[in-house]
Amino acid sequence: LKVRFWGTRGSIATPGAETNKYGGNTSCLEVSDGSERVFIFDAGTGIRKLGLDLARRKAKEIHLFISHTHWDHIQGFPFFTPAYIPGVNIHIYGPKHYEKTLRHIMDLQMDYAYFPISMQQLNAKISYSDLQETELQFGDTKILAKYANHPVTGLCYKVIHQGKSLVYSGDMEPFYNVLGDAPADDVLGAPDEDINEIVKERNQHHQEFCRSDLLIHDAQYTEKEYEKVRGWGHSPMEAVLRMAQEGGVKKTVLTHHDPDRTDAQLDQIETNLRTQFSSLDFVISQEGMELEV
Ligand SMILES: [Zn+2]
Ligand SMILES: [Zn+2]
Repeated sequence: LKVRFWGTRGSIATPGAETNKYGGNTSCLEVSDGSERVFIFDAGTGIRKLGLDLARRKAKEIHLFISHTHWDHIQGFPFFTPAYIPGVNIHIYGPKHYEKTLRHIMDLQMDYAYFPISMQQLNAKISYSDLQETELQFGDTKILAKYANHPVTGLCYKVIHQGKSLVYSGDMEPFYNVLGDAPADDVLGAPDEDINEIVKERNQHHQEFCRSDLLIHDAQYTEKEYEKVRGWGHSPMEAVLRMAQEGGVKKTVLTHHDPDRTDAQLDQIETNLRTQFSSLDFVISQEGMELEV
């Protein structure tokens, strides 16, 4: 499996001299299993350049997996060149919402109030799958979907091919007891211990899902910053690395960088993390970076 990072930034694109090294485009990953099929994870602004590359490569079969439909994960789609090419098949997968279909949500951002071309005018054949937790098979590649913890329904994906695996966990916050130390008995009719037990189980389940050769995980904040942004749906870097260490992940990639973070700050954070996690194989994602498992 080969992975290429086309977008590494979280929340909003951040072009400029201060973000050149790690990249300013929002979430987009390309995964190749060596077949004609192209797997893409998320359609942030990074998908624009990937689209130009795919047009050059004359890719005809594209499977686009959306982790969730927040702007920074879908915003690049209207600028995805293959969507304008007749004869190209694009299948879009994303989490099932209860009030709207994935197709409707993707259509909305191309409404004439926001964008001059509508989804109906695109020349490629575009189809949709609203996913719950599931397993899909593409030749000898399997893709698993598992729910994330985020303020909108989100999915983490695991790709398995010839005994190798990689996990992409887009926006994801560790599960926690939302009631904190307050007594839960009156609120939910369940004792605190039960809630804490459920939280622990869910985090364990996520850790098991993340066990892989390559884990690509949201790590927008440092642990120190996280205390102020609990509930925003993102992971502290240290928590991701601890989980990777305990869960037996071979290599971890920290991604979805905070938009306010400069290259110099990320360099400094990396240095600090290397002293804390000296025995762990991890990197901070950079736009254009390629990895193979
Ligand atoms: Zn995001
Ligand atoms: Zn999000």
